[in-house]
Amino acid sequence: MLEIDSSKGEGGGQVVRSSVALSAITGIEARLTRIRENRPTNGLSKQHCIAVKAVADMTGSEVIGNHAGSRELLFRPGNIKRSDVTLDIGTAGSISLVLQAVMLASRNHTEKIKIDVRGGTNVMWAPPIDSYQQILFPLMERMGIHAELQIADRGFYPDGGGRVIAELAPIGDISPLVIQDLGKLKGIEGVFYIQHLKDSIKDDMIESCKDMLDLDCSVDIEVQRTVGSSKGAGLSLVAVYENGRLGSNVLTTKGHPAKQAGEDVAKDLLREMGSGATMDVYTADQLLPYMAMATGPSEFTVSRISRHLLSQMDTLETFLDVRFGVERRGQVYNLSVTPGDE
Ligand code: ATP
Repeated sequence: MLEIDSSKGEGGGQVVRSSVALSAITGIEARLTRIRENRPTNGLSKQHCIAVKAVADMTGSEVIGNHAGSRELLFRPGNIKRSDVTLDIGTAGSISLVLQAVMLASRNHTEKIKIDVRGGTNVMWAPPIDSYQQILFPLMERMGIHAELQIADRGFYPDGGGRVIAELAPIGDISPLVIQDLGKLKGIEGVFYIQHLKDSIKDDMIESCKDMLDLDCSVDIEVQRTVGSSKGAGLSLVAVYENGRLGSNVLTTKGHPAKQAGEDVAKDLLREMGSGATMDVYTADQLLPYMAMATGPSEFTVSRISRHLLSQMDTLETFLDVRFGVERRGQVYNLSVTPGDE
C-alpha cells in the first residue's frame, strides 16, 4: 500500500484526484493523509468527494473516509469497468476538475465511456470547460486519445446549474507528445460566454481584448449567450500554432471590470506567446499523467514551473515507473517525461 502525504507541494485537491485515479488504474492500494491541510478549509470539499466517488464507482473500488471535511482516505482499487457515469456536484463545483479524475481513471476501460456531470462549467481556480475543447482535447488527440464534450448548460458560482456530457473513446497505446517548437501562428480563437448579464460586459471585454491583441493574425471570438439558473461571463482564448496551442482565460468578478478583464486575458496570452514556451502552464499539469503512460518520451517547454506541475510529477512518480527532467533553457523550462520501459 502507498502512503501519500497529501499536504506536500501544492497540497490541494489535485493530489487527491490524481492519486485515486492512479490507484484505480495501477491496482495499487493508497492511503491519503493530511488532505488539504494547508488550505483555509481543511479536508475534502464536496467537489473532491464527488470525484473520488466517481472514480470508485466506475472501477468498482472501495473507499473509506470519503466525506466532506475528511482528511484521510483509504482507496482499495477494484476490477469493474462501468462505462456510464452520471454525477451531480450539486453546487458550482468545477465540472472540469471532476472530469480530470474520471478521464484518468478510465485509462483501462475497453468500452467508450459517457460522463454526464452537473455543476459549474466556468469557475475560479479551475480550467474553464471551454479550454478542454480548445486546448486539452486537441493535444490529447495528438497522443491518440479521443475525447469530446458538449456543454448542455453553463453553470457559474454560486448557483451552478451547469451540465456537460463528455465521451471518451477507449484509450489504447498513448503516443508521446514532443513539442520543441510551436511553428507558425495560425490565429487566435476565443469563446466569450455570457448568461443573464448585460451586453455592455460583452462589448467591453471583447473590444479591450482585441485592442490589446494587436497582432498580425486573425482573432475570432465566438459569442455564446445562454440562459440558465446562474449568471456569469468570461472569455477563454487559444493561440493556435502549427505544432501546438497556448491558452489564457478570465471570468468576470466583482471588482474586475469587463474592460480590464479583457485586457488582462489578452496580456496573459501575449505573455505566454512571448515566453517561447510550447505549452501553457495549466495544460502542462493536466496532460502530464498521459505523457507518463505513453509509449515513449515526451518533451515540451513551459514559461514557469507551477506548484501544480511539481506536485503532479511527485504523485505520478509515486505510482508509475516514470522519470521527469526539468532543465532551464534561457527564458523557459524544458520538461522531459520518460516512461519506465524507455
Ligand atoms: P483546492 O481547492 O485545494 O485548490 P482544487 O481541487 O480546487 O483544490 P487544485 O488542486 O488547485 O484544485 O487544482 C486545480 C487545477 O485546475 C489544476 O490542474 C490547474 O492547472 C487548473 N487550473 C487552475 N486555474 C486554471 C485556469 N485559470 N485555467 C486553466 N486551468 C486552471
